[in-house]
Amino acid sequence: MTDADTRLFINGAFEAGDGAPEPVFDPARGVQVAAVASASAAQIDRAVVVAETAFAGWSRTMPKERSRALLRIADAIEHQTTELAAIESLATGKPLRYVAGGELANVADVFRFYAGAVRNVPATASGHYRSGTLSSIMRRDPVGVVAQIAPWNYPLLMAAWKIAPAIAAGNTVVIKPSEHTPLSLLALARIFADILPPGVVNVVCGTGPDVGQRLISHDRVRMISLTGDIRTGRAVLQAAAGATIKRTHLELGGKAPVIVCADADLDRLVETLREASFYNAGQDCTAACRIFVDRTVFQDLADRMATMVSSLVYGAPSRNDVEFGPLITARQRERVAGFVDRARMAGCDIIAGGAIPTMEGFYYQPTLVAAPIEAEIVQKEVFGPVVSITAVDAIDEALNWANASEYGLASSVWSRDASVAMRIADRLAYGVTWINTHGSMATEMPHGGMRNSGYGSDLSMQSLIDYTQVRHIMTSA
Ligand code: NAD
Repeated sequence: MTDADTRLFINGAFEAGDGAPEPVFDPARGVQVAAVASASAAQIDRAVVVAETAFAGWSRTMPKERSRALLRIADAIEHQTTELAAIESLATGKPLRYVAGGELANVADVFRFYAGAVRNVPATASGHYRSGTLSSIMRRDPVGVVAQIAPWNYPLLMAAWKIAPAIAAGNTVVIKPSEHTPLSLLALARIFADILPPGVVNVVCGTGPDVGQRLISHDRVRMISLTGDIRTGRAVLQAAAGATIKRTHLELGGKAPVIVCADADLDRLVETLREASFYNAGQDCTAACRIFVDRTVFQDLADRMATMVSSLVYGAPSRNDVEFGPLITARQRERVAGFVDRARMAGCDIIAGGAIPTMEGFYYQPTLVAAPIEAEIVQKEVFGPVVSITAVDAIDEALNWANASEYGLASSVWSRDASVAMRIADRLAYGVTWINTHGSMATEMPHGGMRNSGYGSDLSMQSLIDYTQVRHIMTSA
């Protein structure tokens, strides 16, 4: 068992949950490493009430004060990278070198970015528009208590994407991590305890239908921000239309198409997909998981992909050579295996992988499947180390299928001809489109979906704006 803190964080203090214990597993070994007692109904309610009380003070602080707090949080994350990364890697099974290297640096960077952004909110404007009045002022104010619901695939990073812009804008937060991965956020709460006034950020743990549902339905919550499944997005929308009207911000599932023209640089593509498809065992909403390739280069690309997929190294997160680890739970692995088994039964060609390896932990082999465009494995989010490849006779065919998809989060286009690539990118209805690359993000740039992938942006100034409401104040002459 780990000695990581398992207590909830409410009003600046840690306290044991009064609800049912939820087991936390090390997915790389398949063994339980902690039990986190869920928040009771009374604890959830209290977390919202203290957040509302804290809002009165926090929302009146000047941007530079909030900025200073966020900078201190970023510094503390950097100082504690080793400890935070160890907890994150334990509960997700991700290679420690990736978590300690890139992910934690990104977490700190998000706090640092919003520390600067909040001092540059662009909406303040004034003018004189009607006789009898002196001036009109437009400004952006915080919304209130924000209920935030985070997923398990990047527990700290997704929490940072939510918490940093929300508190930078002057809101207060009650956040629920995934029941599978609460430990790293509880460790981050130690940093909040030292830096933020009590109640500005509160962490309650437990399952979605129980703790999550009560939190998002609370009358004093003014906004709900979710990163999760489309089904959970629907639950949020229903809760938002309850006794009080709540603002919503939804980052939901993805199924990123990779559109490959005949003239694409296949070496570069395959090298990029090594990480863009398999990082975090493909449990990534932007994972490059369905390739639509011009038929004239299909076989060449399929052969190169098969060689690459078969050479991927997966295993224990502590090893320095592994590229990805296990899936998050035995259940998630069953789900992934189910998709591949159904594809096999439907006559798809499993070119590489396609099985559960004989080793401890919740691993699944990196898998490449040749499948027709209408196959389930091409259409539905698998969220595992599984990539489909489909030959198309015309790139327009791929474009039409991509745009008809219920998902609209991430996509990429591959062509050596910049004008062709740009024309395809122009027509793709996705929140993000990469040209001759896939998966790179910048804190300065927005990340968000279209269609059932949700709406509202994470990252960038845009997210800060999402956590504010615009107001007009008019003065008489
Ligand atoms: P999930 O929806 O099952 O769980 C996400 C969170 O929602 C968890 O904390 C869960 O406890 C909570 N939840 C579930 N039901 C709830 C309810 N009724 N009320 C309140 N909370 C509830 O998703 P997951 O399996 O943790 O994460 C994977 C999903 O997240 C995938 O679909 C993935 O694409 C998506 N995702 C999207 C983005 C993005 O930026 N768009 C980023 C990461 C993950």
